[in-house]
Amino acid sequence: MFAETSVLNLEGQRVPESLIQDFKTRLRGRLLRPGMDGYEDSRRIWNSNVVKRPSLIARCIGVADVVNSVNFARRNNVLVSIKGGGHSIAGLGLCDGGLTIDLTSLKGVSVDPVEKTARAGAGVTWGEFDHEAQLHGLATTGGEVSTTGISGLTLGGGIGWLLGKFGTSCDNLISADVVTADGDFLTANADQNKDLFWALRGGGGNFGVVTSLMYKLHPVGRVLGGFVAWPTAKTSEVLGFLQDFAQELPDEVGKIGAEVITTRDGKPIVIIRPGYIGPIDEGERLLAPIRRRIAKPLYDNMRPMTYEALQTQRDAYWPWGKQNYFKSGFVDDLSDGFIETYRAHTENVPSPHSQIAVEYYHGAYCRARTDEVAYPHRQKAWSLAIGASWVDSSQSERNIRWARDFWREIEPLSGGVYVNFMSEGEDDRIRIAYGKNYPRLVSVKNKYDPTNLFRVNENVKPTVASS
Ligand SMILES: Cc1cc2nc3c(=O)[nH]c(=O)nc-3n(C[C@H](O)[C@H](O)[C@H](O)COP(=O)(O)OP(=O)(O)OC[C@H]3O[C@@H](n4cnc5c(N)ncnc54)[C@H](O)[C@@H]3O)c2cc1C
Repeated sequence: MFAETSVLNLEGQRVPESLIQDFKTRLRGRLLRPGMDGYEDSRRIWNSNVVKRPSLIARCIGVADVVNSVNFARRNNVLVSIKGGGHSIAGLGLCDGGLTIDLTSLKGVSVDPVEKTARAGAGVTWGEFDHEAQLHGLATTGGEVSTTGISGLTLGGGIGWLLGKFGTSCDNLISADVVTADGDFLTANADQNKDLFWALRGGGGNFGVVTSLMYKLHPVGRVLGGFVAWPTAKTSEVLGFLQDFAQELPDEVGKIGAEVITTRDGKPIVIIRPGYIGPIDEGERLLAPIRRRIAKPLYDNMRPMTYEALQTQRDAYWPWGKQNYFKSGFVDDLSDGFIETYRAHTENVPSPHSQIAVEYYHGAYCRARTDEVAYPHRQKAWSLAIGASWVDSSQSERNIRWARDFWREIEPLSGGVYVNFMSEGEDDRIRIAYGKNYPRLVSVKNKYDPTNLFRVNENVKPTVASS
């Protein structure tokens, strides 16, 4: 038994129970309320540091459920959030009060090995997607932690090991089915609703609920992955080496990064982790300087592996349920000033669960025009992600302060931010994240969501609405 809590609209008025019951009868999936079996499971997101309690969660199992959920939210002026894979660092899959449209049951990946395409439901994770595509020796650019949702990641841009050869995830999106704010079901692709298709590729969940996504696939066989590690006394040397080394690399080195992490036995180390997508012999030759040009490594497990192994090698480092807070941004170079700041702050990480990564983006990623799709960051650049992660919530203030202090010193060197790496409370950086494409995103928002029904996201504000 549970007591039904009131559902309030955006004006703070109670939505009549009869309308909620009517909504419930229109769903094939469950309508969950606080206290019901399944509610806490559906409310779970990757980042435990963000706690929100929706008044209703519609566990959608088909497009009709999504249409009915959107119609209920719009007609009753109820706050609405969209949960794809639940990995948003800012916790944007959930809302406090209001209705969460939970898409995690929209599974299914259908691969066409001849056309080299795949269509996937909006609740699919990268682990599920890769598994089906790899059956045919195929893949597309996707996130490097397998529990991340394909939806939120692709709609925000999509960074992954294949970006040097094939660009971002959104560059590989061929078509998307969308339920818009007025409850219409549309397909957006190069021929239909082109403005919407442009905006979906980098503009996030601002324009509707995407129910399925179709991707271009590419042949991807065995790859080189793993990492090489040194004691953190070598941090400056490692970053200095990488700054020069990265400039020489071909597209096959999709991404290369360095990171300070802590080993299970509590030892802080600095690692270089490359992903090479091409002939293994050639990759071994190209990446050999990592082993040779810096001091003798502490660990070296750089090795050939399957693409699925590469795509899951970081899962254990980023499990669900920890407290997390990120600060992130792009820098052009790992300058001496950057390296010194990085070294100083990574020497004082308050939690052994934190990871501080710099990654180099290049190749096909840079060959798209900055306005080709909504994702705007196309220059060769390093992305810094200060990933503060801890277990005990009494340590939140300390860890968040550390990440902010670190970022405050880096910020003057930084020129932009990836929308999907932002934390809660960074509204002042949203325009920077969308860059020069922001005004065009506003015009698409005005057309498809003028009342800002979809506002629980890195929000593009319509100019015609009060929000
Ligand atoms: C451990 C970890 C690793 C990561 N690794 C990568 C990486 O390798 N590459 C990378 O690019 N990013 C990465 N990210 C960032 C990731 O892209 C974002 O967290 C992204 O939002 C996750 O998508 P999701 O569907 O799981 O998120 P959710 O929390 O479910 O949703 C996030 C936002 O996306 C929108 N959204 C989600 N689904 C839909 C939909 N179907 N229709 C409309 N809007 C929707 C929602 O508006 C919501 O605001 C990582 C994040 C974490 C926590």
